Amino acid sequence: MKPARFSYSRPEQLKELFELLDRHADSAKIIAGGQSLVPMMNMRLARPEVLIDINRLTDLSYIVRKEERIEIGALTRQSDIEGSELLKEACPILPFAVGKIGHYAIRQRGTIGGSVVHADPSAELPVIASLLDANIHIASSEGERTVPAEEFFVTIYTTDLLPMEVVTSIDFPVLEAGEGWAYRDFTRRAGDYAIVSVGATMKLDEQGQVNRMRLALGGVQDIPHNVKSLLDPYLDAVPDKEWMHYLVEEITSELDANSDIHASSEDRIELLKVLIPAAVDDALQRAKGGEPVK
Ligand SMILES: Cc1cc2nc3c(=O)[nH]c(=O)nc-3n(C[C@H](O)[C@H](O)[C@H](O)COP(=O)(O)OP(=O)(O)OC[C@H]3O[C@@H](n4cnc5c(N)ncnc54)[C@H](O)[C@@H]3O)c2cc1C
Repeated sequence: MKPARFSYSRPEQLKELFELLDRHADSAKIIAGGQSLVPMMNMRLARPEVLIDINRLTDLSYIVRKEERIEIGALTRQSDIEGSELLKEACPILPFAVGKIGHYAIRQRGTIGGSVVHADPSAELPVIASLLDANIHIASSEGERTVPAEEFFVTIYTTDLLPMEVVTSIDFPVLEAGEGWAYRDFTRRAGDYAIVSVGATMKLDEQGQVNRMRLALGGVQDIPHNVKSLLDPYLDAVPDKEWMHYLVEEITSELDANSDIHASSEDRIELLKVLIPAAVDDALQRAKGGEPVK
């Protein structure tokens, strides 16, 4: 289990990174935390000729609030997101979900940029990025561009990123006052990738009716599955058992879930029938000002 031969560069500035990316384009790979790339190189599923280590670009590591958005630099470690007091206050679903990535040692090396670019459909950060309509900020020698999460994830392990581009940051919305949130997943063992996961947010009006709701599913299809187009009929109603039953039916009845060695399509649907109500109920309890029942 050793990687194929490669050469190694460690730029000190973005300009130097762009020069390297322009020079090596398709034969190069950026390495950030190495928690996905190194195993892939060891298994020879990835064979970059040039490895470009961005760990000296420390300007890409930050968490800042800009009015109603929170911007997180691509090189920010997952453990820093998990421990961020700013995020626990302004967007608590992020540190909560990130805390479920692998084990602490992995989160100390793994970065937010690496996770979204790796684009594993079961990974926590892509699901939350899709749920919250995050924006992915990208740069190259040609300039900068911003891509919404729903356009960034193209298929499994594939994003809209070009070989000469780098992700510089990702921004997420601050959750509104009184907006409940939840992330539920099913894993075989603690620390494993989720077989299926569900992210949810919920805002109620003064009558207790659903004013706003977001739902996204991980591990079900090749990219995170944001079900926002199905949710309109469930707004302006007080959630009860019947409401939940029809919501789960609506989402799962026509859903084309993946089948693999971890679970069949039918198993995934059955898991969703448990996880969707659990996540929606957690979000509802938080929207009402309480804490979910475990
Ligand atoms: C044992 C184990 C268990 C894990 N369990 C989970 C889990 O439960 N949930 C989960 O979500 N993840 C899990 N992971 C993956 C972990 O979150 C990785 O850290 C993450 O997927 C990749 O982040 P990284 O910084 O390590 O990226 P790297 O491995 O360095 O890179 C991954 C990919 O992103 C590219 N890349 C990295 N940064 C940039 C950038 N800024 N711009 C452009 N391209 C970039 C690389 O070229 C590469 O293609 C696990 C990993 C391990 C080893």
